[in-house]
Amino acid sequence: MMMPSEKVFPRVEPERIERAWVELTQVLSSGQVRRDEDTREQYSRDESDTGSYAPDLIVFPESAAQVSAVFKTCQALGVPFTPCGARSGKSGGSLPLRGGVAVSLERMNRIRSLSVEDLTAVVEPGVITGDFMKAVEAVGLFYPPDPNSWQFCTLGGNVAENAGGPRALKYGVTRDYVIGLEWVLPSGEILQVGRRTIKGVAGYDLVGLFVGSEGTLGVATEITLQLIPRPRHVMTALIIFDSVLAAARAVSAVLAAGVLPRTLELIDDVALRAVDGRGFHFPPGAGSAVILEVDGNAEEGLLAELAQAGEICERLGATQTLVAQNEEQREKLWAARRVVSTALRALKPHKISEDIAVPRSRIPEIIEKLKALGAELGLVVATYGHAGDGNLHANILYEGPHQRPLVETAIRRMLEMTVQMGGTITGEHGVGHAKRDYLALEQPAAVLELQRRLKAFFDPAGLLNPEKMFPDPERF
Ligand SMILES: Cc1cc2nc3c(=O)[nH]c(=O)nc-3n(C[C@H](O)[C@H](O)[C@H](O)COP(=O)(O)OP(=O)(O)OC[C@H]3O[C@@H](n4cnc5c(N)ncnc54)[C@H](O)[C@@H]3O)c2cc1C
Repeated sequence: MMMPSEKVFPRVEPERIERAWVELTQVLSSGQVRRDEDTREQYSRDESDTGSYAPDLIVFPESAAQVSAVFKTCQALGVPFTPCGARSGKSGGSLPLRGGVAVSLERMNRIRSLSVEDLTAVVEPGVITGDFMKAVEAVGLFYPPDPNSWQFCTLGGNVAENAGGPRALKYGVTRDYVIGLEWVLPSGEILQVGRRTIKGVAGYDLVGLFVGSEGTLGVATEITLQLIPRPRHVMTALIIFDSVLAAARAVSAVLAAGVLPRTLELIDDVALRAVDGRGFHFPPGAGSAVILEVDGNAEEGLLAELAQAGEICERLGATQTLVAQNEEQREKLWAARRVVSTALRALKPHKISEDIAVPRSRIPEIIEKLKALGAELGLVVATYGHAGDGNLHANILYEGPHQRPLVETAIRRMLEMTVQMGGTITGEHGVGHAKRDYLALEQPAAVLELQRRLKAFFDPAGLLNPEKMFPDPERF
C-alpha cells in the first residue's frame, strides 16, 4: 500500500538491473551484493515517514576502491545509486527514489586512528556515532556532536546531514569537527580533501562543501575529525513548568543572561505526556520541561551557573528544579528525551516531524504560533527539541490519509511563518526528499540555480541520489 505522501518516480528497466547484478557480483564478493526481497524491503525506508522505495540491488562495499568500482559500474550502465548509513535520516535522504543500487557504508566501520597528541581521529563512515563517542571518551577526549540517534546512526550519515544535537548549543555541529575527507566522486574518482591539522586555509573549503551535501555530491569513505579535551564535570537539571510558553521564555532568558549551558532541551505538554512512564516519571502536574546541562572543569563554577539558571527559570514560572544526583539519574532523563520521537507515534497513527529553526529570541513566539495553528486546523502539534539554539521539532500528529490535505496546509503554513521570522525550514534533518518542495520558500531562484549547477558539475549524469534536495525546476 502506498503511503499518503508517496510519489512515483521513473525506474530503470529490468534488463539494465540484470546487467548491473552480473557486473557488480564480479567486482564485489558474493555476500556483498544482495537482491532478495527481505533486504530490498529493509533498505526501502528510513525514519522520514515519506514512503517506501525499494532499491533493486544493495551493495556493501568495504573499501574506497570498492565504492569507486560500484560507482563506475553504475555510471557505465546508467543505473542510479544512492548511499546510506543507518537509515535513521528524517528527510528521506537515503531513499532510492528511482530504485537502482543502494550503497550501504555499514561495513566500513573501523576507527582507523585516534591521536591523543594531535586531538584528531580518522574513521570509516559506517562507525556508529555512539561507539565513537565512547572510544574517544575512554582516552580522555570529547567528540561533542550528539544527534539523539547516536546509539544507531553513523558518522558518515552525520557528515552528510551535518547533524547536530543537544550539545550544539555550546559546541556546534558536525561541520565544526570535520577537517578532512576521502571523497569518492560520482565518477568513481577518489580524492583526499581537507587536512589533518587544526588550522589550514589552503584552497577552497571543499570539506565545507561536502558536509551537509546529503549524499548528493559523492561518498565519504574516510573522515578526519578534530576532538577536544573531555570536560571533567557535567551537571544536569530537569526544570518543570506549568506551560510550554513559560518554559520557552525561560530558555531565552537564560541565554540572554550570559549563561551558556551545553544543552537547553524543551519538552512540551504533548511530548511530556507521551514519554511519561516510559522509564521516567515527571512530577504530577508538569505541563512542560527543560533539560539544562552545564559542563566544565571546575565544579564550583558549574554549581553557580546551575543556580543562576535555576533562579531565572523560577522567576519565569518554573515550579520545580530537580538536579540529577548521579550518572544513572542523568541517563534515565536523557533516555526519556531520546524516546520522545518514538513515543509520539503511540499517540496517533501518523506523525510528520518538521525541524525548523528560528533566531533564538523568537522561540516563545514560534511556539505560540505553532500551537495556535494546530488549534485552528484541529491538529495535535507537539513541539520539543533543541530550543536553546532555536531548533524545534514541530510534530503534527494525525489520524489517517483523510487528514493529509490538512496536514499539507499545516506544514506549508508552519514553514512559511518560520521563514518570515528569519528562520530556516531545516535546522538539522536536511532537505532530502521530504522538504525539497519547500526549499524555494527560503532560498531565491538564483541560489537554487547555482546549487543545481554545482550538482551537475559533480554529477553530470545525475545518477547519484537523484530527486533530492532541489525542487523540480519546472515548478520552481
Ligand atoms: C530518534 C531519532 C533522533 C534523531 N535525532 C537527531 C538529532 O538530534 N540531530 C540530528 O541532526 N539528526 C537526528 N536524527 C536524524 C538522523 O539520525 C541524522 O540525520 C543522521 O545523521 C543520519 O545518519 P544515518 O547514518 O542514519 O544516515 P542515513 O539516514 O542512512 O543517510 C542520511 C543521508 O546521508 C547520506 N549518506 C550516508 N552515508 C554517507 C556517506 N558515507 N557519504 C555520503 N553520504 C552519505 C545518505 O545518502 C542520506 O542522504 C534523528 C533520527 C532519529 C530516528
